[in-house]
Parts: sequence; structure tokens; C-alpha cells
Amino acid sequence: MADNDDLKALIRTIPDFPKPGIQFRDITTLLLDAHGFAQTITRMAATTLGPIDLIAGIEARGFLFAAALARPLNAGVLLIRKDGKLPGATIAEDYALEYGIDRIAMHADALTPGKRVLLVDDLIATGGTARAALRLLRKAGAVVEQAQFLVDLPDLGGADALRSDGITVDSLIAYP
Ligand code: 5GP
Repeated sequence: MADNDDLKALIRTIPDFPKPGIQFRDITTLLLDAHGFAQTITRMAATTLGPIDLIAGIEARGFLFAAALARPLNAGVLLIRKDGKLPGATIAEDYALEYGIDRIAMHADALTPGKRVLLVDDLIATGGTARAALRLLRKAGAVVEQAQFLVDLPDLGGADALRSDGITVDSLIAYP
């Protein structure tokens, strides 16, 4: 993890966003840095368990990492979006928020059963979003072996919860 301190230095922390008490890890500053972003993708690609057919990116920042990773991994990109955004027929999955419920969706015909899918997002916190994405992909018949994140907030337990769902979870940076 210490090896990625150069990337961590490119992420800034915005206090009290989106609400008081939350330390938001803002990765937009890493994206602005050509070398840092390229290194991020190189290092994520190097830890990928191999071969995969599709990279599933979670809206919205996950799309950026999924699309960039698709090139070196020679994979397609599957969009997991907030419900109501995709134009074709969708399947959806609900997940609990602190107050209420959210729903993510993917195109019902985005994959055929047995496709090997890597799940990607910028950050995992409680894991609610990623675990719902995993359920959704499995419902569609995907074989998901691994999820990759730029940032993990291990104290919130999301990565461990995702591991308990039976997949390998990797991240480049952690904020204890
Ligand atoms: P979780 O569902 O694991 O609690 O939250 C993860 C989702 O919320 C991810 O899609 C991620 O983009 C977003 N998220 C939550 N907290 C942060 C944060 O501090 N920084 C960034 N960049 N994204 C966050």
C-alpha cells in the first residue's frame, strides 16, 4: 500500500461533504494529473485476475476507471447506472442507504451467462453499492471473481462484506 503514496498524494479530502462529519475523498484531482491517472490504471491492471470479458463500472466515477482499464485488459465496458437512466430494457437491484433505498440497473441483454466480469468503482465505503452491483451481475449470469477500487475505507467494512460474497477485492489506497 505504501507504494501508492504517490497516488494518495493526488487525492484531496473535502471536509463536511456532502454533509457535516463526512470526509469526502475527492479523486477529481488525481484525474487531472496525467501521470497519476495513467499510473492508477497501470497498477489496477497489474492486479487483475485474468482474463475477463467485461468491466462493469458503477455510475459515475466508476465509468472513468472501467473505460480506461478496458484498453489494457482488452475488455468491453458494461454500465451499471442509477435506475431510470438506461434506454433499453433493464434489470435492477435495490440497496439500503442510511435513510431509504436506492436502485441500480443494467441493460438486461448486456451480457450472456458465463461472461467473466470485473467490477470497478472509484471507492468502496460501506459496500452497499458494490454488493448490489454484484447481485445484479450474478442475476444476469455473470461470473464475477474480483472487484477493484482505487480507494478503500476499511473501517466501514465494505471490502470485507464484499469478500464474504465470495470475490477477491483489491484497492490501491486505504484511508484508515
Ligand atoms: P458505499 O456504497 O460503499 O457506501 O459507497 C460507495 C459509493 O459512494 C461509490 O459509488 C463512491 O463513488 C461513492 N462514495 C462514497 N463516499 C465517497 C468518497 O468519500 N469519495 C468518493 N470519491 N466517492 C464516494
